[in-house]
Amino acid sequence: MSDKDDAETMRGRLRSERVNSLFSEDELIEDYYDQPAANDSSCWNDYGLSTLQSSGTVSSRSSSMHSGSTEGLDAPAQLLPIIKAGWLDKNPPQGSYIYQKRWVKLDADYLRYFDSEKDTYSKRFIPVTSIARVASIGDQKFEVITNNRTFAFRAESDADRNEWMRTLQQMVDERKFKGLNRISLFQPPTGALDSVDKCGLLELRGFKNKLYVVVAGDKVFLYKNAEDYRQGIGITYIEMNVGNVKDVDRRGFDLTTPYRIFSFSADSDQEKDEWVEAMQQSIAEALSNSEVAEKIWSVEANRLCADCGSPKPDWASVNLCVVICKRCAGEHRGLGPSITKVRSLKMDRKVWTEELIELFCQVGNCVANQFWAANVPPSEAIHVASGSQERRRFLIAKYKEGKYRRYHPLFGNQEELNKALCATVTTSDLAETQSLVFCGAEVSCFSGDPDFPNPIALAEQAGQKLQMEFLLHNKSSEIPRVEAGNSEEKQYSVILPSVTHNGFLFKTPSMAKLVHERKSREEFSRRWCTLNDSIFSYYENDRNAVPNGEIKMEEIVCLVNNPPDTHGYESTFEIYIESERLYLFGLENPEAIRKWVKSIAKSFIHPRADELLSHDFERIGRLQYKGGLNLARAKEGWFALTQSVLYAFFEDSDKEEAVHLKKLQELSVQGDSLVLVERRRTLYIQGERKLDFLGWVAAIQKAAGSSGDTLSEQQLTESDIPVIVDRCIDYITQCGLTSEGIYRKSGQNSKTTSLLEMLRKDARRVRLKEGEHQVDDVSNTLKRFFRDLGDGLFTKEFCQDWLKAAAIDNEEEKIGQYRQLLSSLPVVNRATVKALINHLYRVQYFSEMNQMNTHNLAIVFGPTLFQTDGKDYKAGRVVEDLISRYVVIFSVDEQEMRKQQDEITAIIKMRIAGSSSGTQQAGDFICTVYLEEKKTEAEQHVKIPATMTAEELTFEILERRKIDTKEKEYWSCFEVNEREEAERPLHYSEKVLPILHGLGTDSYLVVKKQLSMENMLIYLASRVSDSKHGMMKFREERNLLGLGLSTGFHDRYFILNNSCLRLYKEVRSHRPEKEWPVKNLKVYLGIKKKLRPPSCWGFTVFYENEKHEKQQWYLCCDTQMELREWFASFLYVQNGGNVWPSESSKVRASRTQQDSRLGNISLIPLRGNENEMRNSVAAFAADPLTLLRNV
Ligand SMILES: [Zn+2]
Repeated sequence: MSDKDDAETMRGRLRSERVNSLFSEDELIEDYYDQPAANDSSCWNDYGLSTLQSSGTVSSRSSSMHSGSTEGLDAPAQLLPIIKAGWLDKNPPQGSYIYQKRWVKLDADYLRYFDSEKDTYSKRFIPVTSIARVASIGDQKFEVITNNRTFAFRAESDADRNEWMRTLQQMVDERKFKGLNRISLFQPPTGALDSVDKCGLLELRGFKNKLYVVVAGDKVFLYKNAEDYRQGIGITYIEMNVGNVKDVDRRGFDLTTPYRIFSFSADSDQEKDEWVEAMQQSIAEALSNSEVAEKIWSVEANRLCADCGSPKPDWASVNLCVVICKRCAGEHRGLGPSITKVRSLKMDRKVWTEELIELFCQVGNCVANQFWAANVPPSEAIHVASGSQERRRFLIAKYKEGKYRRYHPLFGNQEELNKALCATVTTSDLAETQSLVFCGAEVSCFSGDPDFPNPIALAEQAGQKLQMEFLLHNKSSEIPRVEAGNSEEKQYSVILPSVTHNGFLFKTPSMAKLVHERKSREEFSRRWCTLNDSIFSYYENDRNAVPNGEIKMEEIVCLVNNPPDTHGYESTFEIYIESERLYLFGLENPEAIRKWVKSIAKSFIHPRADELLSHDFERIGRLQYKGGLNLARAKEGWFALTQSVLYAFFEDSDKEEAVHLKKLQELSVQGDSLVLVERRRTLYIQGERKLDFLGWVAAIQKAAGSSGDTLSEQQLTESDIPVIVDRCIDYITQCGLTSEGIYRKSGQNSKTTSLLEMLRKDARRVRLKEGEHQVDDVSNTLKRFFRDLGDGLFTKEFCQDWLKAAAIDNEEEKIGQYRQLLSSLPVVNRATVKALINHLYRVQYFSEMNQMNTHNLAIVFGPTLFQTDGKDYKAGRVVEDLISRYVVIFSVDEQEMRKQQDEITAIIKMRIAGSSSGTQQAGDFICTVYLEEKKTEAEQHVKIPATMTAEELTFEILERRKIDTKEKEYWSCFEVNEREEAERPLHYSEKVLPILHGLGTDSYLVVKKQLSMENMLIYLASRVSDSKHGMMKFREERNLLGLGLSTGFHDRYFILNNSCLRLYKEVRSHRPEKEWPVKNLKVYLGIKKKLRPPSCWGFTVFYENEKHEKQQWYLCCDTQMELREWFASFLYVQNGGNVWPSESSKVRASRTQQDSRLGNISLIPLRGNENEMRNSVAAFAADPLTLLRNV
């Protein structure tokens, strides 16, 4: 056929042209224009190359499977077995119609093509790891597809094409499989090289452009450019064991090999010196590397893989004494080190002692296989081309199950085996020792001789160094067990989830200090890293079997995902370990880093805390903490920090809890603890270890601070109001409501500036104090804060809508629009608007004194809040509307309103009283609280800020008296009503101030233990239904003065559900006689004795309806247990199930720190005549309640 002849001629011409131009420019051009073959498919047919045959190539093809083996042995530079080789047509470069016949070789690492089969240096190599897939593209053609390039080839027959594709795909799949399984022997997916000693551009004679040259280990790689290097696709590599470097001139040097001379030229003489040195070192490495291999290969049996027969195996199992190929080594590693300890002949130089090399020469593949492979059925044997799964199955059978081994006659007789081993190790019979050990003799068995108690000691005593060497490597070896076949999972008894991950990372040396400075790229080295079986290992490169270092997952205390660009690499993470070291890793690839972080976190976080992993955490780890009432013992908790939320799993709790750092009341470092004060809990994070603790402290402090100039980025109160706003409003409320021209007068500019700066820095720490701060400075600070607010209070997005709404004529429509707009604000903005308007509403309430009516306030606040110039009144109109229609727009509960008003009235009264008596006002109320019982010695004077809760008050008292609370001691604050001879424990979250305002002259507060709390909690936890029903004795107080008629106690049936208490005349009654909403009930323990209650287990209940009509009645139970259950049920319903704080703790409110001020001010008791009260202690000790205390 003429087609065929033409093509043949063409190819011949091409070949002759290229004989001496291995790296000709056109080849570079060809590769530069590598295109998906789909575009060229017509070309293939045009030239009809499909029928091409040549006698020379046919023979190569037919023996492709084995030609590799021969070649491997022949060429010293080719140490990897060739899996497939043969002639293929390579698609032509763009713009050319000339097809290129290439000799193509596939080994475990690379697909390479050459001009001819005799060539040593390829024109192109493609790492198997960068091949994404192989695809058929029509007659005899197929594509090898990498991430960003496609190489098209054409075989001479469909069968050959299919064979190529199958083999290639198999290799690719195996690599992927291994990638997933952490086998670290192979190239990374990127194809780029590990452990580069030197790289850069060099001129190579014969090439127009500089090449990118990489010296790595014992090879020199040539790439067209740096980009190609990154993709892993190169021209060729030079095995340096055959290399020699020669200086030529100032900038030039030659790398000579028996096959070719490479004449390089560097940019400068200094550069040249560096290249020469790097290449000389590479040669040294190559030579020393092959030293061990050459010695071991001197025994013929060791020249072929013990398992599959591949030539020049350069790996070994040091305990099994077998020399194996790279692919088998990969599978060996999968069996685990208790079965086989894999080392490289070339790279793990340290393990290769003279003894071990000698042992390999004496035992090695020959003796080992006589034992291990004594009975291998041919159908189960593996060979050079066997796939990964086949290999794995075979190796499990061979070494893990011992399926093919030659059984020792003593097999099964442990005592005899041990005896025999003790005897054999003193001889030179290594084969017998091997047989005994792998048939069950115990390497550490007792020899019976105390001087030489075990086989190793016996061998040493006998001077049998090789026996010792063998025994030492097998001290912890697992003996083959046939039933161990599918127990791969059982191999590791790990508690932590076994996560597997691997890949290249850049690593700095480990550190003992926090990393404050930016680490440049130069400080990182590329390492192959694997995470498997709870061990993170990093290797010099992916071919090394011995890691440079390891981090056990259980040692990890903290993992930090740094913000992007913290160091020279875009993404970095830090690992902190128990022994106070810090490891820093990085990559350019954020996604890959994210995967690493997740994988590592997953493998060291306690499973019970694995919910933490669902957060996009910046920092995760374990810390010691103290909390709750028991501060004696530190506990271990798991924490994750995500933006401004610290998630925690505390000991004894399997529920995640969140600490909102921006909402903390206090955050301070006290000694070696970080103290986080929340409203209902104080958490002490302990600096048990210094390094990770310091990291946490800095991160938490940062997260707890203001992060920007918008509202939500501020430190916040519990109710989502910026602390800045809360502090200012609180201060003005306490000290400025009656101040003339409040918010209109501007205060001192410099003071405002510095105050605002202070508040912005850490509002939580700022205490505004009368005397120290002027009302007008504070009010101005608040205005300034709003005016400068990024995005404004009403947000840029909606601000115009608010102004438009103000122009709506229809009042109802307008209010509807305001409410609508309000609901579309972010939570923090909405809460802040409400708080501010509420405040202004209070301010205008006192306009007679302060001269600031609603209109005046609107003039001031309109432009401030809307950040306008104030030339028109639009903005003012909005503010005026909001203040004047405050109750409607914000749906304010009337009761809430009244309570507030009472509070303010009290404040004003206080101030007037204070100023009239000439004393300095404290701003807060001072009241008397008793500890345990009402007596003068137990008196405590406490300043009660408006926000103080019963729990905070309790802890303040306890702290002052230095009372250590113990677990299961339920300290509470009680309101005691002496007249009624009844008391009520305040709910821990109740605000104290309103209660104080409501206390009559015969009531007081006392802090004491709530003895029945534990039993109540047990009852609540164990009951099946939320409702409670049963008989109680009931008595109504008809007349509040106690003078009216009372009918005594009568049996009634009660049902308490989650909203109301119903009273039935009897059990069978269908309709309740009375019904009360539980929310409006105040339940006190105890009934005054005057009423002669039928038992001492009773309640006094106060009820007030919407019209402020009051009722009072009594309930009496038969037993103490009943009383407790009813009372617990009331608490439960009234507090939405939240009877006792789950993580209650000392609230070290910073308020205690203000005590020094108490000396300078007069204490203003809330109630008038204290003496009278003291005298009226009466017969309280005889109160039936005392019995309750003995529960
Ligand atoms: Zn092998």
